Formats: sequence, C-alpha cells, structure tokens
Amino acid sequence: IHDNKLEWKEVKMRDITIVGLTQNNLKHVSLSIPKEKITVFTGVSGSGKSSIVFDTIAAEAQRQMNASYPAYIRSRLPKYPKPSVEKIENLTASIVVDQSPLGSNARSTVGTISSLYASLRLLFSRIGTPYAGSASYFSFNDPNGMCKTCAGLGKVTKVDIEAIIDVNKSWREGCVNDSLYAPGTWYWRQYAESGLFDLDKPIKAYTAEEYHLLLYGTRSDDGEMVHPKVSGLVNKYTKTLLNRDISVKSRHSQEKSRQLIVEKECDDCHGKRLNAAALNCKINGYSIADLCEMELTQLKIVLTQIKDQRVDLLVQSLIEGLDRLIDIGLPYLHLNRETSTLSGGEAQRLKLVRYMGSSLSGMTYIFDEPSTGMHPRDVYRMNKLLKQLRDKGNTVLVVEHDKDVIAIADHVIDVGPKAGTQGGEIMFEGTYQELLNADTLTGQAMRQILPIKMKTRQPKGSLPIRDACLHNLKHVDADIPLGVMSVISGVAGSGKSTLISQVFAKQYADRCVLIDQGPIMATNRSTPASYLGFFDEIRKLLAKENNQPESLFSFNSAGACPVCGGKGVLVTELAFMDPIVTECEACEGKRYNQKALACTYKGMNIVELLNLTVLEAMAVFTDSKISRHLKQLQQVGLDYLSLGQPLSTLSGGERQRLKLAKNLSKKGSIIIMDEPTTGLHLSDIEKLLKLFDTIVARGNTLIVIEHNLDVMKQADWLIDIGPDGGKNGGEVVFTGTPLMMIQKASTLTAQCLRLSCG
Ligand code: ADP
Ligand code: ADP
Ligand code: ZN
Ligand code: ZN
Repeated sequence: IHDNKLEWKEVKMRDITIVGLTQNNLKHVSLSIPKEKITVFTGVSGSGKSSIVFDTIAAEAQRQMNASYPAYIRSRLPKYPKPSVEKIENLTASIVVDQSPLGSNARSTVGTISSLYASLRLLFSRIGTPYAGSASYFSFNDPNGMCKTCAGLGKVTKVDIEAIIDVNKSWREGCVNDSLYAPGTWYWRQYAESGLFDLDKPIKAYTAEEYHLLLYGTRSDDGEMVHPKVSGLVNKYTKTLLNRDISVKSRHSQEKSRQLIVEKECDDCHGKRLNAAALNCKINGYSIADLCEMELTQLKIVLTQIKDQRVDLLVQSLIEGLDRLIDIGLPYLHLNRETSTLSGGEAQRLKLVRYMGSSLSGMTYIFDEPSTGMHPRDVYRMNKLLKQLRDKGNTVLVVEHDKDVIAIADHVIDVGPKAGTQGGEIMFEGTYQELLNADTLTGQAMRQILPIKMKTRQPKGSLPIRDACLHNLKHVDADIPLGVMSVISGVAGSGKSTLISQVFAKQYADRCVLIDQGPIMATNRSTPASYLGFFDEIRKLLAKENNQPESLFSFNSAGACPVCGGKGVLVTELAFMDPIVTECEACEGKRYNQKALACTYKGMNIVELLNLTVLEAMAVFTDSKISRHLKQLQQVGLDYLSLGQPLSTLSGGERQRLKLAKNLSKKGSIIIMDEPTTGLHLSDIEKLLKLFDTIVARGNTLIVIEHNLDVMKQADWLIDIGPDGGKNGGEVVFTGTPLMMIQKASTLTAQCLRLSCG
C-alpha cells in the first residue's frame, strides 16, 4: 500500500509532456511543463502560444474529461477537436480563466457570480429584522423576493417621448418629429379632429393637464380615456416599439427604437430589484440592497461591525471573499453591478477570485494575459494570487507580455521566432533569470529600457470636457489637445473609459472614431479580405484572368460546390441527437465547385489565394487596390493572418488592430483606442508607436487609454485620472508632458513611470 501511494505521487508530479505538436503553425514541437509551478508563455503575437496552451492543453484536457461521461451527457457537451499531436501525457483537469465576457444577462451581478450575494441572503434570513422569510425572500431572481414592477431587474424600458417632441411648435406646425405624425397624415388628423387640443398653441404653452392628455390620452386624475381616437403618444409608441420583437422590425423603426427607447431606473424599487418586505428587513440599519450598492471596501467595514455569535462564521467567510476581490484590484466595484458592464480584464479577475475560493488542488489553471486593464501598481497584487494558486498545489499556465508578470515565472517557454509560418518553434525554455540573458526577441526586449520623449508636439487647439459626472467622475473638467497623441492613465476603475469612451466620445460623436476590442459586426463568414473590402478585387482579378464572371468566385453564388451548396460541410439531422457534421467529400471542405477551382491566378486557385498570409500575399498581388490593404494589415502587425481566416478566430487585441487597419487612411479625425497594446509583444510595441506617429502626422488626434509605461513615455500629453479607483477616483490628478510627469508629479502613475526609466 505504501509503495502504491508513492507511485501515485510520482505520477501526479510528472511533467505534462507533449511530443510532436503540429497544431496550427506549430512545427513538430515537443515540450515538458513542470507541475505545481507557474509557467509563462511568451513570444510575439501569432507565434503559437495560444495554439499550445488553449488549442492543445486546455482542449485535450477537456476532451478527455468529456470522454469519461456517458454518451447521453457527452452529446450535450461542447465538442473539442483532437489537437494534432503525436503524444500528450500527464494532463490534469484544466480550467481556462480568460477574458470572455460573463454574459449579457441582467440578472447576473458581481454579487451573484462571486456567490457573495447568496451568503448575504443567508445572513439576512438569520439576523435581519423584522424577519422577512427564509433566504429566497432576498433573491431578486425569485418571485418571493423580486420587485414585481421590474421583475427584479431594477430598471424598466420606457419610451422617451420628449426626444421627438418639439415644444416650440404647435400641433398644426408638426410638433412630433416623426413622419408617422406629420401634418396631414392619418394619425395626425385623429388628434387634430378630436377637438381636444388648440392646434395653434405651441406645446410649451400647454397646461400640465393638456400635456398629459397628449401623452396618455387620459386626464391625470381619473385615468379615463377621453376620446376613442386619441390613445396618447406614449401609449402609441410603447405599443409599436416596446411590445414587439425589435429584430423583426424594419430598419427605419429599429433606428427609431434606438432613438426613443431608454432604460430608466424602476420607480418602485429605485433600482434595488427587491420588493418592500425584503427591503424593510435590516441589519444595523442597512437593507441587503444598501449593502449591494456599497463599494466593496465600504461593505467590508459594515460587515466587520456585525457582532453576533450566531453568524460569526458566515460573516468571516463573507469578509474573506471580499478581501480576495479587493486584493485583486476590484475594490471599487459593488455587488449589484451587472457583470455585462464589466471590461474583459475585470471579468477575468472576477473569475480568478471565484477559483481562489475553491479548495480544489491538483488542477491546471490557464490564464490569457491576466494583466489586461491593470495599472502597474495592481499587477503585483494579482501576482500574489497567482502564486497562492500555485502554492495550493495547482499548475499555473499564463500567456503574458507584461514584464512584471513574466518576472514571477518559475519556468518560461518562449515561442517564436516570429508569427504565423515564421513562428511555431520553441526558442527558449528555462528560468526567468536565464530568459534575461537569452538571445531571443523576448530576452532582448526584457533588457531594453525605452527613453522618455523629450520633443513633444505642440497641440493645434483643444476640445473641452466640462463638469463630467457620469459614474464616479467628480465634476471633471479636462481639455483634450488636438493634433497630438494623448495617453489617459490611471489605476483600474479610476474613470478613464468613463471619461473618454463614454463622455468625450459621445459629446463629439461625429468626429470620433472609437477603435475597441469588441466583436466585429459582420457575418460569421467574414475574413480580413472581406472586412477590408479587397476580397472583391481578388475575385475581379480571377475573373479577368480566366475570362469568367465574378460570381463564379463566390461560394454563395455560381461558385458553390453542388454537393454541399457552398457550406463545405454536410449536416445530417438525427432525431434524438446533435446533428452529425461531416466535411463535404466533393469539395473537401473548400466550398467551391470544380469549375471555380480550376481557375487560377499566378498558379493559385481561389482557395489557395485565400490561404496565403498577408506577408505572402504581398509578393503575389501588386495591384494597388489590394496591396494598399495588405500594407495596412502589415502596419498594424497582422501580416501573419491568412487572407481567409475567419474573424471569429481573432483575439480581442487582433480585432482592435484590424479595426485600426481599416481606419489608417483617415485624416483629421479623433481616434480613440482602449489598451491597444493588449496581446502585443514588447518588441511589437515599438512598431505600434511608430504607427501612432504616422497617424498623428496625417493630422489626426490620437487618444489612447493605456497602462503600458513605454506608451506613456512616447505620448505628447498625459492625462492621469485618480487618485485611486471607484469613489476614490474620478478626478484629473495630473496633466502635462511625460517629462513634466517624472519631474514633478507624485501620482501612482508618476511613481511607476519614474521607476521604469531606470
Ligand atoms: P499567439 O497565441 O502566440 O498569439 P496563436 O497560437 O493564436 O498565436 O496563432 C499561431 C498561428 O496560428 C497564427 O498564424 C494564427 O493566425 C494561426 N491560427 C490560430 N488560430 C487559428 C485557427 N482557428 N484557424 C487557423 N489558423 C489559426
Ligand atoms: P477605468 O476605465 O479607469 O478602469 P471605468 O471608467 O471603467 O474606469 O470605471 C470608473 C468607475 O465607474 C468605477 O467605479 C466603475 O465601477 C464605475 N462604472 C464603470 N462602468 C459602469 C457601469 N456601466 N455601470 C456602473 N458603474 C460603472
Ligand atoms: Zn423594481
Ligand atoms: Zn462541397
């Protein structure tokens, strides 16, 4: 028995071994990854890090887990394809902690996701007074606890009728700004002929009673309908806009809906989501909703003041949970915050905390750039949590570019040398200290210290923001300089995005181009070639070269494979199981028919042309209509993508750079980017900075929200928001050039910037 135990321990501790890995761009890679250690994967973007960590290790671990379930469960689980690898051994169960959003469900809040809300409910059901019921009576997702008016959502959607009423006009002049009620129309005549209104009186001169009648068709005291044809403007628009599925409406009325429908706080519960009984139940004078509106640091203080032996353990575990959220740099959140409004980085930190509370050990945790959205000051706190995870007996794998995260690695695996087909090899394996001496792009970049910009550009005027108060902003006044590059800095939650992406961008909407990391609104067949618009040019070239119509080179038109109809796959529907999807044998998944595939340009058919990487394509296409776009893709560091790679496979950072490529030729615009260095290797950041120079030289204004100190060093102007996050933030704490910042500022950002200058 004793021997068996030893043997089990040995197996458990054996390295994860991978032999002959050829997934995506990987070139027959073999690796071993130590267990119960932190291994950081480095390398330029597109080198193959995710192909190893996500497409191979995580996918195979999940696949093997799924295979252990009975068939009827298996058919309901997501499918993980087997990675192309000769051998993979000693995997443990894996958990991917990535930046994917936490869903768009309004019922999912920081409190429900962290399960702290469940503990609070329990607390109130035990010691809240007056007694309101058991724990479900405090759940806004349960009929017992929810506010009936808003069904527990805390908000209601309403028609904002004032948006289309011109109060200076009379009914006869067409006071309703909508063709539906234009003078002379049927709807207009119902009101005009009712005899209820003075047709020549401007709306602003209406009495309250008359205005009520116009909006609701009733008198305010008795609520009785006054005229059969006058139902009231609010009621009319509510019926046509709110009570129907928006997606089936015409584009015109969708546009109108966007303009007229607003979300308002629920009048009954004032956004608290719960019914009166639940809200009246209190502990030390606070209702459960009060606690959920507090910043986490404040909530911790209130909980510490609860002195009641019956709930000691419960309070203790609540405080521990709060401490973890605070420690990971989320002290500024509140439990009622909808998770759908969190940034990718915040969502990832929330997930990390969820796992910190678990007592599982022997797992493999996989992180995708956990430093995203984090100020250098906060990175060390997160590092502490990653180390704790390891010390509990877990294996921690991290894909990262941040110097401070790489520094905590027990083991580094550097992938390269470059991206796509020019990458896919292991350039270095070893300790962090060894990496510092390694002769790889990562090693070099780790040793380099970028200088601060001395000669900053002079702005050509500025645009004002006055008295901004959204979220945590405290009556902020700021001037955004034109014709230069500004960097907006500050710890997470200080108010950077609120100030720039929400307040400023909305105020100057017609001049601003917001280039974010969000999904690209396009069909799921979109590719870099179709997104930038040069796919049509490639089809034209093929058509001309082969004397064929262009439609032959379109798989949803004349070019479609007759067997699969251009889908590339055949779907067999089964009665009680998931449909079986098999590759079409006729076209081998290529989607095109033989006639289309027989046509070539420079010896390549349409499929082969779309498989070229941007870099390869540059040698093939010389026509400026195509090469112009290829150059744009190269400039933003995406030359490793293939022309036909589905956009759904791109990372957030890659999507952002693709959007930037599309906007590169802009002149005289205000371009706003939120953390453009996400996913970029240290050596690529210098290229991005050069590109920023080009953009500004074209007469654009560039505003970049960034934590990366090298980007700050190269700015013409810095606007630092702080001093801290949440309630303790929301002010402009410094404005000036980078040089001014290191010379005289004392903010958190200034301290970090000074340190990074060596
Ligand atoms: P990294 O994580 O280092 O940025 P990836 O592993 O994501 O790099 O990508 C390595 C290469 O594989 C790149 O050339 C990328 O374009 C390609 N690639 C990644 N995912 C896919 C996919 N689903 N289909 C085709 N090519 C892919
Ligand atoms: P930063 O961009 O500096 O990380 P944000 O502008 O995202 O900061 O957040 C500033 C403050 O506003 C934080 O307290 C944050 O929790 C709050 N906040 C941001 N977005 C929302 C939202 N959609 N709803 C409620 N509060 C928000
Ligand atoms: Zn309500
Ligand atoms: Zn086919």
